[in-house]
Formats: sequence, structure tokens, C-alpha cells
Amino acid sequence: MEKLSFLNEIVVDQRAFFKKGVLLDINYRKELLLKLKTIINQNESFLYDAIKMDFGKSAFETFATELSLIYAEIDYFLKNLNKLAKPKSVATNLANQLGKSKIYTEAYGAVLVIGAWNYPYQLSLLPAVSALAAGNTVLLKPSEIAFQSALIIEKIINENFPKEVFHVVNGGVAMATALLKIRFDKIFFTGSPQVGKIVYKAAAEYLTPVTLELGGKSPTIVTQSANLKVAARRIVWGKFLNAGQTCIAPDYIYVHHSVKKEFIEEIIKHIKAFQYTPDSENYTYIINKHHFDRLLALMDSNKIIYGGNANPDVCFIEPTIMDNVNWEDKIMQEEIFGPILPILVYQDLEEVFKTIDSNEKPLSAYIFTSDNEDKDLFVKQLSFGGACINDTIMHVSNPNLPFGGVGNSGMGSYHGKYGFDTFSHKKSVLEKRIIGEPKIKYPPYTSSKKKWIEKLI
Ligand code: NAD
Repeated sequence: MEKLSFLNEIVVDQRAFFKKGVLLDINYRKELLLKLKTIINQNESFLYDAIKMDFGKSAFETFATELSLIYAEIDYFLKNLNKLAKPKSVATNLANQLGKSKIYTEAYGAVLVIGAWNYPYQLSLLPAVSALAAGNTVLLKPSEIAFQSALIIEKIINENFPKEVFHVVNGGVAMATALLKIRFDKIFFTGSPQVGKIVYKAAAEYLTPVTLELGGKSPTIVTQSANLKVAARRIVWGKFLNAGQTCIAPDYIYVHHSVKKEFIEEIIKHIKAFQYTPDSENYTYIINKHHFDRLLALMDSNKIIYGGNANPDVCFIEPTIMDNVNWEDKIMQEEIFGPILPILVYQDLEEVFKTIDSNEKPLSAYIFTSDNEDKDLFVKQLSFGGACINDTIMHVSNPNLPFGGVGNSGMGSYHGKYGFDTFSHKKSVLEKRIIGEPKIKYPPYTSSKKKWIEKLI
């Protein structure tokens, strides 16, 4: 731990830089964002190579699910930063006349971002983009698990940004533990609920505000009125994207008993059509042997109706469907985070909602239905971070929607305006005129003053 004392110096330097006020300049922040976009763009081929080495993710998927989101977020801030950062005038109530009321946004200061490995670029850099846009300094620790991706992030950031503005440190649990001992002005964490609790406890020491982007089991419901072809296509895509290693992947399916057979046939048809073969551009390996073994241990060979093959040499697991699954099965005891799709059946949608509601609040939930009442009940009766009706995953790609969890799946949100708000304190300022103030709030108190106060408030 001794060796990690340099971390303290970085944070001291970052806070000192923040206090100089350079980051108050919106144009300076825009230059930082533009520079980030340029260097990512110039290094795209290295970014593709690194992530390919980590878990075989293709350039297509890396662009579509990582880099394009970072570019879009930067473009959003380049376009909207002036408006977002501008103080907002709000109405002043009667008791505060004659006065003016304004809300100023103020950056927190020195921010720590801790990333997860499954989308190593966007989960590290999107929060950094929002933090810089809001005028903070950033110290970023990507996940050590996607090792090559973390190295290339460190290289391109540290070679191109002043250390006191934006810096990357790499390392595992020891590094994260050392960072969490330092006082930051805001911590943004992406990862598991278990580690989220460690981060939250560490932040409490200094009352540091936190955003926790966590995970959990995201349910997917297929009702009898669903368009089964469309449902199967969108579920297969969302589940097997990144080989299921997506925090908002459909974790398990609840399908109405009357359409189960046809639905499973459609699922299998789409898995075959999408050609999830080893070494193809269409599929990803499991990140490491630990997760490979964990996933194999979740499978019950008696319940596998499709797939189940695996190659430990390259950590490949075939898209796998398990049927007749119930809540006692191992696969239902934890977030799967891999390419195994358990199918449960239901008769009564209200019962499904009750079961989901009796578990931890999910990061995402999905329903496929053409019945407006089902849609309405789904939104009203379930608590979740975000959802799609008749799709999976895609809500994450709309920058006008806040992205984040609730309860065990996280707290706070980001993307677009919500990212800016996450990294800003809203400072309320009431400016009073010197004249025009009724004296009724001042002692000595009288019953007639009280009557006036009652009327005014
Ligand atoms: P993780 O919690 O194991 O690790 C996340 C980060 O925490 C890494 O940088 C790691 O170095 C650090 N860390 C690990 N152990 C630590 C400890 N004891 N003390 C301090 N820091 C520690 O999560 P992961 O395996 O990288 O990611 C998988 C989890 O993250 C899943 O639950 C998934 O759903 C969730 N996730 C959530 C989102 C989201 O946006 N909400 C996105 C991706 C992943």
C-alpha cells in the first residue's frame, strides 16, 4: 500500500488545479472533449486490437456498442454545454419579494471513476466525459480484468492530457482499495452490487457523493399477444451481444405457456441465423477462466435444450437455452452475465410481476406484448432502472433517457443531461432587493403579524 502513496499526490494536484478555476471556462472544457474525441478516433485501430485480445470482441461491436456512444456523448456536450452550464432563473415566491432566484451549476471538484470490464471503453470513458463536461478533474481506474483495453486507455489518456486534469491509473483490488481511502469530491462506480457496497461505505467516511451503476437479474416477459418473431430476434440479439456479458442483458425469460413452444423455436432459429461461432465477428469469448468456470457451474445439463458446448482453451461458450427452469435452480440464484438463457413459463401476468417484485430491483426489465393494459401494468407495478417495451437493451442508446439502476441495481444516473447533473452540484441563490421588504417576519411577534404570515405562506 506504501507504494501507492503517489495517488494522493495526483489527487492533491487535481484539486489544486480545480481550485485555480481554469475548468470554469466552458471553452476549455470543450477543448478537452474535442481532444478526447480526436485521440480516440486516431487510436481506433489500437482500441480494436486491445479489446480483441481481451475477449475477442469485433471491431463492429466495439464501434457499435462502445466508441459510437462515446463520440455521441462528446458531440452532445459540444452542442449543449453552454445551455447546460448557464444559470437558470426560477420564479421567486411571495415571501421572498422583492427578489430574484437562480440555480447555478457547480462542478464537485476532484472526481474518481472506477470502471467495469465488460464494456471497458464506454464504462470508463462515458462517465469521464460527463465529469469533464461539468468541469471536474478526473482520476480514472478502468477494470484490470479487460487488461489490454485498460492499458490502451491509460496510454492514450496519459500521453495526451495533463495529469492534473484527467489521468488514468491501472490496477486491481489493491489499487481500488488505496484510491477509496483518499478523499474525493465525487465517486462514480460501475460494477457489481457487492463491490458497490464497499465503495459506498468508503465514500461515507468523507460524505462523498456517489453514483453506483450496478447490476442484477434483468427479467424479460413474453406475453401471449407478443409478435414472437420480433421478440425472439430482439431477445437473441440483446442476450448474446458480448456473449451475454452485458449488465442490461435479458437475464431470464418468462414466457406465457400458450406461446412457449413457438417462441423457443423462433429463438433457436435466430441463434442459428446470427452465426454465433467461435472466431467469428458475431460473437465474443468469456472474459476469463474464472467466469468461464462460474458459467459452466450454473448450467444444468438436464435442462439444456439447445447449446451447452464450451471450449476452455479460448473460454468459448455456445449460446445455450435452459428450459423448465424455476427459482430453485442455480441459474436463478445470481446474475448470469453470460450466454445462458433460462426459460420459465407463466399463466398469470400479475403473478409474474409479484415474483419479480419479491426479488431485488433489476437494472432493466423488458416486456414483449401488443396489449396496452399489459404495458401499463408493467410500467406501474414493477420497479426497475430502465426498460424497453418490445425491445431489449436499446434504451441505453437514447441520450435523452437517464441510465442507471434503483435499489440493489444502483443509485443515480448518467448519459447526456443526466451525466452533467450527476457531476454537478445545484447551487441555489436568492438575491434580495434592499428595499420593499415587509417587516412582519421580525420580532417582536404580534398576533396581527402572525395573521399576515399565515396569509402569505
Ligand atoms: P466488479 O464489481 O468486480 O469490479 C468493478 C470495479 O471494481 C473494477 O474496477 C475492480 O477493480 C473494482 N473492484 C473489485 N473488487 C474490489 C474491491 N474489493 N474493492 C474495491 N474495488 C474493487 O464488477 P465487474 O466484474 O467488473 O462487472 C460486472 C458487474 O458490473 C455486474 O454485476 C454487472 O451487472 C455490473 N455492471 C453494471 C453496469 C451498469 O452500467 N450499471 C455496467 C457494466 C457492468
